[in-house]
Amino acid sequence: MNKIYDVAVIGSGPAGLTAAIYTTRGAASTVIIGGDSWGGQLMLTSVVDNFPGFPEGIMGPDLMEKIKAQAVRFGAEFIQKNVSSVDFSTRPFVLKTSDQELRANSVIVATGAETKWLGIPGEKELIGRGVSSCAPCDAPFFKEKEVLVIGGGDSAMEEALVLSKFASKVTIIHRRGEFKASKIMQDKVFANKKISVIWDSEVTKVEGDGKVEQVEIKNTKTEKLGQIKCDGVFVAIGHSPSTQIFKGILDMDEKGYIVPSQKSEIKSQKYNTQTSIEGVFVSGDVHDYRYKQAITAAGFGCMAAIDALNFLENEK
Ligand code: NDP
Repeated sequence: MNKIYDVAVIGSGPAGLTAAIYTTRGAASTVIIGGDSWGGQLMLTSVVDNFPGFPEGIMGPDLMEKIKAQAVRFGAEFIQKNVSSVDFSTRPFVLKTSDQELRANSVIVATGAETKWLGIPGEKELIGRGVSSCAPCDAPFFKEKEVLVIGGGDSAMEEALVLSKFASKVTIIHRRGEFKASKIMQDKVFANKKISVIWDSEVTKVEGDGKVEQVEIKNTKTEKLGQIKCDGVFVAIGHSPSTQIFKGILDMDEKGYIVPSQKSEIKSQKYNTQTSIEGVFVSGDVHDYRYKQAITAAGFGCMAAIDALNFLENEK
């Protein structure tokens, strides 16, 4: 209880775990508070083909197990709980979970981002009853069924492709007339005979008695309403940063992403990943709304760890 760690890492996706690999190898005592459901978004992903070192691809959860094993191998302690509150007003910093109080001389925030929902009638009520945000988790439940995917980014393409391995028919509904997704993902979707697209349309209601039966859609140009019968609705419209516990404590932008100090008014420019509080660093999707890749998150984790190690050294 009285131990003061050199580094506390909040979050256990590629950013947090990579940070811990670097801090422990830098001889800093490190605790990772990894969250009730650890591992971040890759735990909900199927094959990851773009992480260097895995020429045949690797399943997202397998990749996370490997990165976690690497972090723990060098001595990081791993706590599978959420941080409920933080006190960054004193040093050492204090982090509380439901039943523990942890203290650390530096903190790396790597809490990532979470799924955005549409916020339409029927959606919340039918989550787990046909409404989902995770095709790799739920696709097998839709064998030979008809499903919809909402969104036009890479996530929506990926969800549709995963679902097409099980469902009899996959329809992507996108609010505009062209996808935002990368060309390679679009090409895969257009080449898949099971997948079709409804352009310029929004889903406005999810309907069903205890399970998804149909949705109401609205054409964004004509405003005309229609219904589509379906068994599943997969929402893939992006993510929001997981920063609730840092509100009013760390500087954030208007969307709630944490802003590193180089963009805020703090004068110290020594550490690129430092937040508005000295000794608190940030890495991964919780501050990166642009790249959002496992490999960039890992890279940011490395940067935050090097900054934290330098900070601890300079504080001595
Ligand atoms: P994005 O923000 O890239 O895309 C979100 C999509 O959802 C957009 O097409 C957007 O429409 C649409 N959308 C947003 N809000 C609504 C709404 N309220 N109603 C209807 N549609 C909505 O998020 P992604 O999760 O797809 O991707 C995030 C990042 O992760 C990207 O950088 C992506 O490249 C990356 N990624 C990469 C993968 C890979 O390489 N295999 C896999 C998955 C993600 P509009 O286009 O009109 O804005």
